[in-house]
Amino acid sequence: MARKKDRVVNEIDMDEAVVSVGGSKSEFLNVKDDIDYDIRFLPPVGNKPDGTPLKTPWLEHATHGKFVAGKWSGFTVEGSDRKRQLHCLEVHGTGYCPACALKEYSEEEGEDVSWLEPRTKFLMNCVVDDELRVFDAPPSVVAALQDYIKNKKYGVKLFDPAVGRNFTMTRIKKPNGFREYKLVPDPESSRVIFDDWKDRVPELSGFVQLFSEQEMVDILVQNLTGILPVEEAFNKKASKPAPAKGKKTTSAKGKKTSPRKR
Ligand SMILES: [Zn+2]
Repeated sequence: MARKKDRVVNEIDMDEAVVSVGGSKSEFLNVKDDIDYDIRFLPPVGNKPDGTPLKTPWLEHATHGKFVAGKWSGFTVEGSDRKRQLHCLEVHGTGYCPACALKEYSEEEGEDVSWLEPRTKFLMNCVVDDELRVFDAPPSVVAALQDYIKNKKYGVKLFDPAVGRNFTMTRIKKPNGFREYKLVPDPESSRVIFDDWKDRVPELSGFVQLFSEQEMVDILVQNLTGILPVEEAFNKKASKPAPAKGKKTTSAKGKKTSPRKR
């Protein structure tokens, strides 16, 4: 035991079970609290969404989630039977992101919309309890892995399919609602149980699916009308077609002081 290095990290309370970026439920690792997962993080395969080779075991992406009535959930999207997160078009796309614009507008109107900020996560291919899974890991998990990589005792060979290591990963819910991930590498190195894992893992960039600007507006209108001033935010945009660049200059106008209760 003394040879194991504990790494405890804080994670925001987000119900990942209901917030998907597509893919099937069985394809993704659905982490539950207080369970020890035997997890092997696999090395990078394939390309980033821009077509350049993926060089890290994780693919960084940023999505908008929905937090209503004190609960995280996904957005209902027509034609999809799973609730979805929305990839931020500002981070991934053309520059204008309707969800970011809605957040900015709602803030000016005095709403508490910090939940609508794009959140960074990291898609990783893994073997979990002898099954191939995609793990949409929070930043704290990647930070912990980076610490292990920097540790000379482990280094990048942690991810080597022949001589890397499995981890025991546990997510713990604390009384304050925050989650901690605990990652402990096995004392011994091991081989990935599937020789053909490379042929079987999905291309991670396939999960970065961008909606068009108009599709995203429609989804936000459908999901957040009555909760945030959605129509007003996008009507304002329509009447002001050239935001181009730079911040608004009229942000000093009066703000409502009490955020709307949800
Ligand atoms: Zn955005």
